[in-house]
Amino acid sequence: MRSELFIIGFSFMCAVVHAQPLQKGGGEYVVQKSVCVSSEQYASIYSELDKRMLELKQKGVLPQVFSPTITLFDFPLKQSPGFNYPSFYGISNYVDHNTGFPNQITDFSCGTRSYDTDGGYNHQGIDYFLWPFDHLMQDRDQVQIVAAADGIILFKSEGNSDQSCSFCSGCMWNAVYLVHPDGAVTWYGHMKKNSVTTKAEGQPVVKGEYLGIVGSSGNSTGPHLHFEIYKAQPYSRANLIDAYAGPCNALNGTTSWWQNQLPYQNPTINRIQTQTAPPNFPVCPAIETTYESNQFVQGQTVFYASYFADQLAGTTATYTVTYPDNAVFQTWTQTFANTFAASWWWWSFTLPSSTQIGTWNFRVTYNNQTVNYPFVVTAATAVQNITENIFEMKLYPNPFVQQLTINSTQVLKKPVFTIYDSKGAAVYRVAMQSTHQKEFQLNNLQLGKGTYLLVVTENNRAVFRKMISK
Ligand SMILES: [Zn+2]
Repeated sequence: MRSELFIIGFSFMCAVVHAQPLQKGGGEYVVQKSVCVSSEQYASIYSELDKRMLELKQKGVLPQVFSPTITLFDFPLKQSPGFNYPSFYGISNYVDHNTGFPNQITDFSCGTRSYDTDGGYNHQGIDYFLWPFDHLMQDRDQVQIVAAADGIILFKSEGNSDQSCSFCSGCMWNAVYLVHPDGAVTWYGHMKKNSVTTKAEGQPVVKGEYLGIVGSSGNSTGPHLHFEIYKAQPYSRANLIDAYAGPCNALNGTTSWWQNQLPYQNPTINRIQTQTAPPNFPVCPAIETTYESNQFVQGQTVFYASYFADQLAGTTATYTVTYPDNAVFQTWTQTFANTFAASWWWWSFTLPSSTQIGTWNFRVTYNNQTVNYPFVVTAATAVQNITENIFEMKLYPNPFVQQLTINSTQVLKKPVFTIYDSKGAAVYRVAMQSTHQKEFQLNNLQLGKGTYLLVVTENNRAVFRKMISK
């Protein structure tokens, strides 16, 4: 009987605000750098692409001469149906435009967001890593690699392990290579095993069409897409394109190959959620536990977590938790001391043991973006505490007709009496001021016949009683 009573969604008043979290933490999520493609693999891929280009031209699938108009590209990733993270990726590496090495790095924007190696490899693509929970995202096929423009499948490779965590010289990636109307070729590498499109080489795809799932096949430190572009044959550094136009783009200069070029740094809230424990990132390739929960009980500790891409030093994020009635329960701000490509932060606060029940909201605002995460607070375990450490209370008569007497074992100073109907709606409420009584009468209760819940709150303690109106 008691459990039935407390499932219904009632609410009552509380004004407790915790100014300081119990605990907090977080920091940068470091994405390891690794050679995406070895020189042997480049040689092999170039050879396969040349071979297929010739075959498809001979078959008439591809024209002998391509269009002179540059094919512009759209973003090559999207979230699978059923997933709704505000965002899901960060950029770890752009193209390295400085062909010197090692440690001579210049990206299109004259920054150093790329890498090279002792062996003379200068990164030739854009690396989009999944964030947050990259291995979980891979496991549940959360992020699709899609065609950046209309094209024809020139070549694809499939069947290779997708659990790479570091450079491994023999590892080949799963990938799709498209040729576009202008003869440009786009590479989509590191796909999840057995996710590569079933379309055959020579078949057309349209912009935005599924090509595969982001994974960690080949030379890779974790799930990411390596997106590389050549404007034409022969495939060599001379024909490499960096879709991002910029002052230090030594390949195509100020000509962007994007339909909509995104900013060099793109500060974004990727995910917010409430959790039952702090974020914890296991060693690759283990699948992350998110500790996500949107169900809490009064008195429980809630971990409010946020996950950003490109947090910028000096910028501020604002956090707000609101009650079901939209009043602010607590709010706090965070000014970032550092610029990080990926970061995670958390705060823990304990819900008052007596507080509003229903759908609360966790909201984060950052860089003109606002993300909401609703969560539900119920009274389930609060019931356990109530009988142990709270005043005893009797109701009589019960069942009653219009008038009810409440008798407490303790003097109550500012009790609040709220009556909820069987659907959880508050149908009566009275707040007493400065009483020093043990006995109270509720008169002229205009309630229909039925079972009700009386909640008496006093100084953040509560007593619940079933009452029957005749
Ligand atoms: Zn790469």
